[in-house]
Amino acid sequence: MAKVLCVLYDDPVGGYPPVYARDSVPAIGGYHDGQTTPSPEQIDFTPGELLGSVSGELGLRGFLEERGHRLLVTSDKEGLDSEFERELPDADVVISQPFWPAYLTAERIAKAPRLKLAVTAGIGSDHVDLDAAIAHGMTVAEVTYSNSISVSEHVVMMILALVRNYIPSHQWVLDGGWNIADCVARSYDLEGMQVGTVAAGRIGSAVLRRLKAFDVGLHYTDRHRLTEEVEQELGLTYHATTEELVRVCDVVTINAPLHPETEHLFDDELIAKMKRGAYLVNTARGKICDRDAIVRALETGQLAGYAGDVWFPQPAPPDHPWRTMPHHGMTPHVSGSSLSAQARYAAGTREILECWFAERPIREEYLIVAGGGLAGAGAHSYSARETSRNADEGDQAEPG
Ligand code: NDP
Repeated sequence: MAKVLCVLYDDPVGGYPPVYARDSVPAIGGYHDGQTTPSPEQIDFTPGELLGSVSGELGLRGFLEERGHRLLVTSDKEGLDSEFERELPDADVVISQPFWPAYLTAERIAKAPRLKLAVTAGIGSDHVDLDAAIAHGMTVAEVTYSNSISVSEHVVMMILALVRNYIPSHQWVLDGGWNIADCVARSYDLEGMQVGTVAAGRIGSAVLRRLKAFDVGLHYTDRHRLTEEVEQELGLTYHATTEELVRVCDVVTINAPLHPETEHLFDDELIAKMKRGAYLVNTARGKICDRDAIVRALETGQLAGYAGDVWFPQPAPPDHPWRTMPHHGMTPHVSGSSLSAQARYAAGTREILECWFAERPIREEYLIVAGGGLAGAGAHSYSARETSRNADEGDQAEPG
């Protein structure tokens, strides 16, 4: 029997939904690179339900209890008195989502001798100290690609919301106004603008694909160039450096991982090289931008707008300046947790657990750490020495 400790975000303030806005979500069979969507033997939930909150339990309870395992679900994860901390010492498996991560620091891993598997229901395992996980003989797995398209749609939404001045215009409606001039005085068409992505991996390239239809100039920079065929298909201009890219773009979207090279990349100096009135959208990691430099640039008009769903720290405190800076379109960390995405990563979590308990191999593309080292997707995306430093969430993820 295994003890499975699952850390999920709280239910809605009004309670777990008895009914949903829609009756179904479309079934997606595969992703752009040919990878197939999760394929567990069975699921015990209806796709489209809220699965990522405590009462949703990622749809795992029936599956685990039928096999004699124990499932504990909590949202209480911070500090020594938290339920997560109290339940961790005899847990065999820990599951959490990047939106509400269960930080597995070296200290916590050391306190959990039985812990052998950490699953990220979603993408991004930088809340796990991968060095410590390797030393502890753990497997770390995530549901690669499960919400990449969800994030890319959020990016496109945010670009349009900023450029068209959607959020302030909506606010005039809520306030009972009909102030057309106030709404349109900052509203532009995206058509004809130059839009660039810092990194063109799964999310960045999905953003480029989606924006092609808007008749914009598309730009990217990445450590590796895309193939000539893809560049031609999408009409992309490649830039060797971020600096070169931002000089020519009206809109910049950040889709690179956080590592020493990208930490505080968007500081006063780089922002000063952007076109005056450029828009910046960051759904990658909060720390890629210098918090106060963003506020200054919005106040002076160097940036016309900033949006994203990643902050530092997370959850953002009530007085975080990004909540009140002008011309922003921030959301909490939600882009990858739409009901559609939840259905995929809950199914992927179940697939990983089915394999784990049956001692079958987990899909290579889901592996981050296995067999005493980085593996699968982890071997490509992570550097064990850097990862715990890179976590973009609360204080516990920071190095001592
Ligand atoms: P991928 O691994 O598919 O792509 C990342 C790309 O960034 C790779 O091509 C990588 O190159 C490139 N890269 C790395 N460093 C740099 C750099 N300094 N400059 C330019 N390019 C660089 O990742 P995804 O597209 O799936 O995700 C991107 C990021 O988005 C994640 O790292 C994560 O931080 C964030 N994310 C946010 C989510 C959210 O809910 N908001 C959800 C999921 C992800 P190379 O191949 O050489 O390493």
